[in-house]
Amino acid sequence: MKVVLLGAPGAGKGTQCKNIVARYSLLHLSSGDILRQERAESTELGKKAQSYMDSGALVPDEIIIEMMAKAIEKAPADGFILDGFPRTVNQAVELDKALVAGGQQIDAVLNLEIDDNVVSRRITGRRSCPQCGAVYHIENLKPKTEGICDNDGTELVQRSDDTQEVLSNRLDAYHRQTELLVDYYKKNGTVYDFDADRDPDDVGASIFEKLDALVKM
Ligand code: AMP
Repeated sequence: MKVVLLGAPGAGKGTQCKNIVARYSLLHLSSGDILRQERAESTELGKKAQSYMDSGALVPDEIIIEMMAKAIEKAPADGFILDGFPRTVNQAVELDKALVAGGQQIDAVLNLEIDDNVVSRRITGRRSCPQCGAVYHIENLKPKTEGICDNDGTELVQRSDDTQEVLSNRLDAYHRQTELLVDYYKKNGTVYDFDADRDPDDVGASIFEKLDALVKM
């Protein structure tokens, strides 16, 4: 099964991906995580992406398409879930071309719908563990000890692009460039919409219902 997860920043893509990956044994390919890893390792790619990410703009298509093509090439044949990619129609077109060339296709597009105001509250309160990647929230998902990861005791950090100012740019990029993808994929009839302004477990249950049905087909 090959799945694309769409949604604004803060819609819960990362959280839902974790559950989906565990249930259906898919490889999780997050373009944001790959970019952050490249930056942490100070690679050429990481350096090129840095200024775009820090301002909340999208990294240019050619950089992202090449990076994700490599990641997808290495993915096992039984499937993957793309999180944060594609984010422009151009990226989606290139992805489709690459998949078709390999006799493959996207089986489902999961679209997490959420209001910008909810996103704002979620994102600016988000904290994560730089060691294990666990994600917390200062109000809704507090660690046992304030500012410390429950799993490994590491001090939690705020992503530098999770501030209100950068978030405004990220939401702007989402509405101007990424939202168009919903229509692009709707032409193929493979999009499932989910109200993401709900408890993450409820969103997850709705997603499982759809994907379970697809797996049985
Ligand atoms: P994310 O963790 O998915 O919110 O991504 C963090 C940042 O990485 C974004 O704000 C963009 O600057 C960059 N990024 C991630 N995925 C893409 C993509 N598919 N196309 C362009 N830029 C991306």
